[in-house]
Amino acid sequence: MKYYNIITFGCQMNIADSETLAGELEKREYKATNNLENADIVVINTCAIRDTAEKKILAKIGGLKIWKKTNPKRILAVGGCMTAQKEIPTNLIKTFPFIDIIFGTENLSNFGLLLDEFVKTRKKQIQTAPETKVSRCVEPKRDRQINAWVKIMYGCNNFCSYCIVPYVRGREQSREKLEIINEVKNLIQNGYKQITLLGQNVNSYGNDNPEKYGNFPQLLKEIDKIKGDYRIRFMTSHPKDLTKELIDVIANSEHICHSIHLPFQSGSTAILSAMNRKYTREQYLEKVKLIKSKIHDVELSSDCIVGFPGETEKDFEDTLSLVQQVKFLNMYMFVYSKRKGTAAEKLEQVSDSIKKDRIKKLVGLQNKISAELSKKYVGHDYKVLVEGFDPKENCYVGVTDSGKSVFIKSDKNILGEFKLVHIESCKGSKLYSNIIK
Ligand code: SF4
Repeated sequence: MKYYNIITFGCQMNIADSETLAGELEKREYKATNNLENADIVVINTCAIRDTAEKKILAKIGGLKIWKKTNPKRILAVGGCMTAQKEIPTNLIKTFPFIDIIFGTENLSNFGLLLDEFVKTRKKQIQTAPETKVSRCVEPKRDRQINAWVKIMYGCNNFCSYCIVPYVRGREQSREKLEIINEVKNLIQNGYKQITLLGQNVNSYGNDNPEKYGNFPQLLKEIDKIKGDYRIRFMTSHPKDLTKELIDVIANSEHICHSIHLPFQSGSTAILSAMNRKYTREQYLEKVKLIKSKIHDVELSSDCIVGFPGETEKDFEDTLSLVQQVKFLNMYMFVYSKRKGTAAEKLEQVSDSIKKDRIKKLVGLQNKISAELSKKYVGHDYKVLVEGFDPKENCYVGVTDSGKSVFIKSDKNILGEFKLVHIESCKGSKLYSNIIK
């Protein structure tokens, strides 16, 4: 028996890519193991979005030197966004000569072939140049029959000035509509309860060939027609591509969750322009207003960057006031991190101490809002999907349609089930509930 261990850094897209890698390995009769000492192959799926992620990855690779030395037959493969950057593969091999395979984000469907070649020849395999067709045919190996990620498009055309993604994942390419619908149908027939459609910029699905693929609202409408008890979520949306048509489809659907992840990144129009986000503060707020007026009980979540080059105190105040106005259910809050090769790299940077102070203020405000929002759930009934178990609380964790987590006491294993719960109380932003049925 041969064993594999995949170490994944970064976003949901990377988690989905790792499922594809696992699919390739299982096809070659490897079995998953959590124990590195048992692993015949370790694959590190890297992230390049932040400097701290890259540092952690380098430390991880360095730490595997002994693992490899103990048994040189073991295979170490490194792939993903970090290795898709031009000079990185050469540097990696120089620093860590014990790496056997290096592949980029656009070479996923070739990973199995690179592995076969390495096993046959024991010669290093390095492939990071984009393939003509991105990975879309490899069957992913999914873990639990609750959530499934379905990639519907690859790459990004937006070139936000702080972001490295368009450089490492290439331009937008949509998957075949029918292929996506069939994949979702199969997952639902196989018992999956929640499907998340993934793309770097999911709501620009189809823009690369509208005649062939249609658009994102049309795709959602088709998927929503599939019979069954399931939920559809999607991420990540770009505000400029969030149309009225999409809002209407969500509002009138049966299975699409009333929860939208809509990164705003900054509340200041001047900073949004420097970020090349292609919308203003006012346009963002207009879309939020429309979403809230059309979609019943909707919740919004978001991403925000503080300390972008040139961000003044007034710009930061604008961010705080936007957060106060929209009231996001939750937010991913980041301190700006300089990425080599991006336009913002060359701009005048904000000092670390200012960034630290601003992120602290933002986190404090968001925590207050999350706690305030939680209160409105108390005393009401919600259908939740039980997605996990929290050993600290000794409770199952259910998630409402709007994306709010709820603790549930149960002696029975209810993982993966839909339950109707009554929210009894809230502590901070945490909600506690009892099962009604
Ligand atoms: S939309 Fe902007 S932030 Fe998102 S992946 Fe594309 S370039 Fe990066």
